[in-house]
Amino acid sequence: MASNAKAISGQTFDYIVCGGGTAGCVIAAELASLPNVSVLLIEAGRDSDKEGLWELETVPQKQLNGRKLIFLRGRQLGGSSAVNYMALARGPAADYDDWARMVGDDGWSWKNILPLMKQLEDFDPKLPAYLQRLAAPKTRDHGTSGPLKIGFGDEMVPGIETFVEACLENGIPLCPDINSGNPVGVGLARFNVRDGERYYAANAWLNESARKSLQNLTIVTETECDLLHSRNGIVSGVELYHRPTRENLDEEDPHLATASVSVMEKRNAIVHGITVTIPMSMVNPIARGTSRVGFGSSYHMK
Ligand SMILES: Cc1cc2nc3c(=O)[nH]c(=O)nc-3n(C[C@H](O)[C@H](O)[C@H](O)COP(=O)(O)OP(=O)(O)OC[C@H]3O[C@@H](n4cnc5c(N)ncnc54)[C@H](O)[C@@H]3O)c2cc1C
Repeated sequence: MASNAKAISGQTFDYIVCGGGTAGCVIAAELASLPNVSVLLIEAGRDSDKEGLWELETVPQKQLNGRKLIFLRGRQLGGSSAVNYMALARGPAADYDDWARMVGDDGWSWKNILPLMKQLEDFDPKLPAYLQRLAAPKTRDHGTSGPLKIGFGDEMVPGIETFVEACLENGIPLCPDINSGNPVGVGLARFNVRDGERYYAANAWLNESARKSLQNLTIVTETECDLLHSRNGIVSGVELYHRPTRENLDEEDPHLATASVSVMEKRNAIVHGITVTIPMSMVNPIARGTSRVGFGSSYHMK
């Protein structure tokens, strides 16, 4: 159910997800599928917006003669998954196993992560006849009933087979499936696109029929989370600013939404998805960012 910042001002929710991007849409949809919980998803951008981008600027980069770089991110429901290049590449199995060992949690190991990756995808192995010898994905490595439609793409770069042949002639082995856990060699990439349509966090997890069935989910767009409030070390509220368009970023219209407090919950505001869940030590009593956020980040920059 979609709403606006004014309409939800002062309400309480069991979970508030700040940032309706790639992770935020999935987390909100999964939380809202639990019985008896209310979920609020807050997104700065619009519900859907062809031009919805943050064009953030880095600090001057010492190694680039002081040049600043532009750091693009999606600013709309679906976040960066709405604007990215749609390539879907899993990491090598050995990396997941290393992470599991490093954090002492077997949940991150390849054998435990693979079933979750399969759950996400609806993989179609179809390829034009002339490319079939260049890929051999195994059914056991792929899902066919997840929300994200994955395949080799509707069109291939002209001459791709010549490029692969050249690699093979020069001793680079063929990788029959770059997403099998062994991506070594040259192989064809996968994309989250089908029949000319991008599949991304918003239309895969929060499409019209999902929204209809998730009656306990409130989505607020064109609204920025500004402050997190905490009580007894638990995030208890989020301060919101309604910013209807990119053009009037200076106008502010504050509205407060409050998360319900439960002593059983360790945290109940999730900021920008899993990757940046706020440690409680940083939000006591009120947090306004921290100088370490984004420190050492390395990404697509231009
Ligand atoms: C140009 C580009 C190309 C890429 N290509 C690929 C690719 O081909 N394959 C691939 O796997 N990955 C690719 N990526 C990377 C991938 O898209 C991202 O890693 C991933 O989408 C990040 O997901 P996220 O949930 O962490 O953040 P995002 O999806 O960026 O979500 C963050 C969300 O939070 C919102 N937000 C920010 N601040 C606030 C606030 N104060 N209040 C409310 N909302 C806020 C933003 O508007 C955004 O919607 C690409 C990225 C870019 C930018």
